[in-house]
Amino acid sequence: MHRKSGPRAALPCPPYEAVAILWRMTSPSPANAHSPSIGLVGFDGDDTLWKSEDYYRQAEQDFESVLGHYIDLHDAGTAQHLLKVERRNLAVFGYGAKGMTLSMIEAAIELTDERISAAHLRQIVEIGRRTLQHPVDVIDGVREAVTAIAARWPVVLITKGDLFHQEQKIERSGLRDLFPRIEIVSEKDPSTYARVLAEFDLPADRFVMVGNSLRSDIEPVLALGGWGVHTPYAVTWAHEAEHGVSSDEPRLRLADTAWQWPDAVAAIEAGNE
Ligand SMILES: [Mg+2]
Repeated sequence: MHRKSGPRAALPCPPYEAVAILWRMTSPSPANAHSPSIGLVGFDGDDTLWKSEDYYRQAEQDFESVLGHYIDLHDAGTAQHLLKVERRNLAVFGYGAKGMTLSMIEAAIELTDERISAAHLRQIVEIGRRTLQHPVDVIDGVREAVTAIAARWPVVLITKGDLFHQEQKIERSGLRDLFPRIEIVSEKDPSTYARVLAEFDLPADRFVMVGNSLRSDIEPVLALGGWGVHTPYAVTWAHEAEHGVSSDEPRLRLADTAWQWPDAVAAIEAGNE
């Protein structure tokens, strides 16, 4: 009654109320109206911060060269057999070059019907040693991008694989100073990320994970309600290539290079506020 009298009643819809109604219509819910900003940005290591898969592919080629002394490489399906053995052994040996080396030895014994010589087994061990000692090449733009992101948000390195090898790679990368916290984990699944987030006392919707693997870096984080920035690497291990992430996933951003990471995280925060 009162609102029908006075100067404001002359307007069909007062500007302030129009804005308020519009705000209520476009706000998803009272709970999301004050959606929190990003509280942590995680980075994968291998093939996200530094090159890795190239060395594993080289190791596979060297492995096939050794086996070429015994079998016809065109018929044997060597790479597929090695992948089968590696997958069989993942739960026992874990990820990384040491597990790969043991799987290569096992696959070589199987593929040659136990005919492989000790000298050639030694060559396979050397292939593994070279893979463990490969130089750590930091990918272009990584240091600049992580530095820019760390200036605005807390950051953590979450890398998977052999503890000793991963620690060496972190040291050799020269990136250790950028990360106050480093998590070396044996598997990247939802429970691993949930544990990390619990340690940071952070809800998943305030977490962004940056990585090259949709299977390990993106899918489990999205499953928890977090955000992903995917930067594909030129080479992907067949095991990592299997995933269930849809390309139109609303909490996934694609960044072609590390240089785009700061803008990608900023865009997530802008849309998340
Ligand atoms: Mg990776």
